[in-house]
Amino acid sequence: MQLLGDRWTLLILRDAFLLRTRRFGGWRESLGISDPVLSRRLRDLVDGGVLRRVLYSAAPERHEYVLTEAGLDLWAFLVAIWGWERRWVAGTAAVRVDLVHDRCGARTMPLLACGGCGAVVGARDTAAERSPGAGPERNAPPRLRRRSTLSEEPTDAALLMPETMALLGDRWSTVMLAAAFLRTRRFGDFQRDLGVPPTLLSQRLRTLVALDVLQRVPSEQRSDHHEYRLTVKGLDFFPVMALLWRWANRWMATPAGPPVRISHPACGAALDPVLLCERCGEVLRRRDVRFARPQRVSSV
Ligand SMILES: [Zn+2]
Ligand SMILES: [Zn+2]
Repeated sequence: MQLLGDRWTLLILRDAFLLRTRRFGGWRESLGISDPVLSRRLRDLVDGGVLRRVLYSAAPERHEYVLTEAGLDLWAFLVAIWGWERRWVAGTAAVRVDLVHDRCGARTMPLLACGGCGAVVGARDTAAERSPGAGPERNAPPRLRRRSTLSEEPTDAALLMPETMALLGDRWSTVMLAAAFLRTRRFGDFQRDLGVPPTLLSQRLRTLVALDVLQRVPSEQRSDHHEYRLTVKGLDFFPVMALLWRWANRWMATPAGPPVRISHPACGAALDPVLLCERCGEVLRRRDVRFARPQRVSSV
C-alpha cells in the first residue's frame, strides 16, 4: 500500500495499463519525468513485485518493464479511481474517456459489490477494522523520502486523476484517509494511531477538507472539540480504498496477516470487493473492460 502512495508510481502504473507503456523512453515521454526519478520508481516497482524487468534486446542490452500478475491485479483499483474522478471531479481527463464493458457493449460505470453475496456495497454497508497485529508502525510510511523538489512533481501528466493524486499521491495522505475509513476522527487520534508529526497532520487535514473529502464538525461528545468526518464525496472513495486493501492483503501479506479486515455484515462474509457493470450487472473482469474515446452525440 505504501508502495502505491506516490504520485509518480500511480502515473507509471496508469500508463502501463492505459497506454501499455513498457519502456523507459515511453514513460519519459508521456510523463515528462526525469531519468533518475523514473529509474528509482521502476526499481521500487520491480522490488515490490509489481513490474518485472525483462530483456528485449541483447545488443545493445535493453530492458522493458512488464506488469507481473500482482501488477495486473491492480486494474480494478485503477478502474475504481477512474469512476470516482468521473463522478466527482469536474473537467478532468477522466471525463474524456469512457469505460466500455465488452460483454454487454455498454459504456458503463463500475459499482462496488460484495463478491460473496453479490450485493452492491458502500462504505456504510461494511465494517472495517485494523487487524490486532497492526500497530502504528505498520501504518506509517516505511521511509521518508527526501522532499520532492518542484521539478520532480508531476504536472500536466497528473491531470487524468488530479484529486486522486492529492489523496493517494502522498504516503501520509493515504494512511490518513485509510484511518478515516477505520473511524479515526480526532486530531489526537490521528496523531496517536499513525504517529504523524502534528504540523504535517494539520497540513494534510486542511488539504483533505479543501478537497471536500473530510469535513470538520463539532464532536458529538464535546461540542467544543472538533472531529474530521468523511463527506459524501469522501465516503464514495471507499471502492478505491477497499480494492487497494484487497490488493495489499493479497500481494503484500506480512507474517502478521492482513493489515485491515473488511466485512459485509449483511451476509456475514469477509468482503471480497468486486466491481459490477452498472449497465448489465455482471462482475467486471480485466479482459472485458477497456477505455475508449467518448462517442459523439449527434443531434437528431
Ligand atoms: Zn455480502
Ligand atoms: Zn455490462
